[in-house]
Amino acid sequence: MTAIRVGAASGIRLCDQCGRPLPALDKNEYTPARARLVAEQGVCMCPHETDDVELPERGPSLL
Ligand SMILES: [Zn+2]
Repeated sequence: MTAIRVGAASGIRLCDQCGRPLPALDKNEYTPARARLVAEQGVCMCPHETDDVELPERGPSLL
């Protein structure tokens, strides 16, 4: 399960650890409200283990 809260008012996903907005995964997340938060606080840089985000790892090695 994820530990990511969703801002009730804006729908902005905020980090549980630092309270900063999480990096946007979709262009729909680039809202004016989020842009303001990012400008004020920056984007969360915490390592997260989320179920819905799969970080691209190295491609299969070609041995
Ligand atoms: Zn964070």
